[in-house]
Amino acid sequence: MESIIDKLTSLSKRRGFIFQNSEIYGGLASTWDYGPIGAELKKNIKDYWWNHYVHMRDDIVALDSSILSLNKVWETSGHVQNFSDPLIECKDCNARFRSDALEISKGVCPTLKCSNTSFDDPREFNMMFKTNIGPVVSDSSEIYLRPETAQGIFVNFENIINTSRKKIPFGVAQIGKVFRNEITTGNFIFRTREFEMMEIEYFVKPQDSEKYYKEWINNSMEFILSLNIDKSNLRLREHEQEDLSHYSKGTTDIEYKFPWSWAELQGIANRGSFDLDSHSKSASKNFSIFEEPTKTRYTPYVIEPSIGVDRLLLITLLDAYNEEKVESNNETRTVLKLSPKISPVKVAILPLSKDQKLSELSKKIQRDLLSKGDLGKIEYDETQSIGRRYRRQDEIGTPLCITIDFDSLEDNKVTIRNRDTMLQERVNLDSLHSTLIKEIKDY
Ligand code: ATP
Repeated sequence: MESIIDKLTSLSKRRGFIFQNSEIYGGLASTWDYGPIGAELKKNIKDYWWNHYVHMRDDIVALDSSILSLNKVWETSGHVQNFSDPLIECKDCNARFRSDALEISKGVCPTLKCSNTSFDDPREFNMMFKTNIGPVVSDSSEIYLRPETAQGIFVNFENIINTSRKKIPFGVAQIGKVFRNEITTGNFIFRTREFEMMEIEYFVKPQDSEKYYKEWINNSMEFILSLNIDKSNLRLREHEQEDLSHYSKGTTDIEYKFPWSWAELQGIANRGSFDLDSHSKSASKNFSIFEEPTKTRYTPYVIEPSIGVDRLLLITLLDAYNEEKVESNNETRTVLKLSPKISPVKVAILPLSKDQKLSELSKKIQRDLLSKGDLGKIEYDETQSIGRRYRRQDEIGTPLCITIDFDSLEDNKVTIRNRDTMLQERVNLDSLHSTLIKEIKDY
């Protein structure tokens, strides 16, 4: 039977969500390109996050730092020393994988058709990608691509404090590409070597860090639930002390029930003052804050909620994917019940047939709605039968379709069809825009 990941991969290709990168040359494994519909979905997810955390709060400011920085940054942050996974090599087929893959396969080489049980000793494999800066390729021109956006925030801490005039507690948010040379990738866009991260570094007084750590776990969970993700597919997992990253005083993952197992969707870490302390020592800077009432100085602790855009996008697809029996025609329809907050297309305009008068009215309706600028992407489609066009919109998760028929030419009314209930209502053109806005809000 086709797995849900296989179904999503083929739907993504068929409808323009996600394509295999370099496909025409055979494809670069685990590297994906977002198509016309997928790019909209991804942008909507990032905008929703940005709006939620940066625009709707007064205590979080923005940053957009570089992918490249001095190697000193990664030496100081501990990434050169510690950002590694244990790599194991099969003595028979020479396949290399993370040692936890061996644990999962109970000591047998996980490569298809290899049943070998002896391996080289694990060695630490640093996951940072390297490239060379400038025209001369040498050891001294080597530079890393960032594996997280957080360090850009720490090294700009002083600049941000000086320019934003924010007082503790406050946060800095950043969305950007990161690169990790993962040993094992896979499960579609779950684990890739290039992906986007949405991170906040929230600076607090040390004695308040536990309180804010808990607060960020809760509000991160609420954010994910606000995208209509089924609560029973989410759970919290606190890391054991011995599993903590080199910088962490406490980490909790929000895990999602992926089709293969529970796995991390988002990490929330209490990084303590590790990063600011390390950079202040290494750069001979003073990042401590003076507190007037107590006349004392302290280095802020930082709480870091960090989530991958691509992994969040994957769970919105997994959670939204439904195959339903349609009673009226005994067919099965595939429908993506995406939250309208992030649907790639919010409204589709579908004239009943290719008649010129219907096209003219339909295009005018599209122009009028587009000119309001508050509905997002509005698609126009007059090809194929109306049934097939509804099916396409269901598959890309369009919450509302507007059908224009021959009666519309006479009575100035159109039909709005709801994706989830498939109920249809007839609406006067004068109130079309306000009805659409209301229906999307109440969805
Ligand atoms: P994992 O245990 O899955 O390797 P991690 O603990 O290394 O993840 P973090 O460093 O906490 O991950 O990264 C923050 C978030 O970035 C993760 O919660 C996940 O959403 C996303 N992420 C991490 N690695 C990848 C990857 N290789 N591909 C896609 N998303 C990723």
